[in-house]
Amino acid sequence: MKTILITGASRGIGAATALLAAERGFAVAVNYNKSKESAENIVEKIRLKGGLAKAFQADVSNETEIIQLFNQIDTEFGNLTCLVNNAGILEHQSTLENLTWERLQRIFQANTLGPFICCREAIKRMSPKYGGNGGTIVNVSSIASRTGAPFEYIDYAASKGAIDALTIGLSKELAEDGIRVNGVRPAFIHTDIHISGGEPGRIERIKDSIPLKRGGLTSEVAEAILWLATEQSSYSTGIFIDVTGGR
Ligand code: NAP
Repeated sequence: MKTILITGASRGIGAATALLAAERGFAVAVNYNKSKESAENIVEKIRLKGGLAKAFQADVSNETEIIQLFNQIDTEFGNLTCLVNNAGILEHQSTLENLTWERLQRIFQANTLGPFICCREAIKRMSPKYGGNGGTIVNVSSIASRTGAPFEYIDYAASKGAIDALTIGLSKELAEDGIRVNGVRPAFIHTDIHISGGEPGRIERIKDSIPLKRGGLTSEVAEAILWLATEQSSYSTGIFIDVTGGR
């Protein structure tokens, strides 16, 4: 059975991706940081449908915890064939002149450095150089990497811009090793992340400017992630799927 690790799978897009991955036959490593109960609920839902899943606590903005996470998955499941770098944070809307050093460190550690280290650990399991059989990496970025998110969170946008560069560069480094690396760039998806940004009703405010005139569902992003994670997308690497309602 193939194993998929989804970081930040206790809620939102990660949780929807975990449920869909189980339906598609993966053993699912459900990573969470703080929301233990939500993560256990996702695991329970998967098990009730006959799937295999386990919740793993780890702060993926911390290198030591990332290494422990991958080691635990080796022990519990083995055969890691897919990594979804989904965990991500944003903080209250702010112009750049008010950003602090500490905030920049939090954003870049969680959204950029963590995914880099997760990719490194995944390569050590997937690459034939280390005895692996190839695999897939899907990086969850954001439309913000294209827009820059002015007056809201340029720090978040830049942390996602770095993720897009990671996706492009690593896809080329790993192509000959049978590891494909792709990105999904969502926007305006109904999750709690907008509460973290300080505007829970953000989607409602801007929905008329979205060509499809509504926010997106987590399940709609999960479909794009699973397509890139599986053989359905076997001739694609270094690409991005924008799940943005046409923006
Ligand atoms: P969400 O509802 O706020 O969920 C975030 C998830 O990430 C939670 O499961 C959370 O786990 C986890 N997480 C946060 N920091 C973590 C850490 N240090 N270690 C481990 N897990 C951590 O967010 P979402 O909207 O689903 O976003 C998922 C991804 O999509 C993010 O990368 C986000 O930037 C991206 N995205 C979302 C949208 C959108 O409109 N929703 C748009 C563009 C991009 P705990 O609760 O356990 O801490």
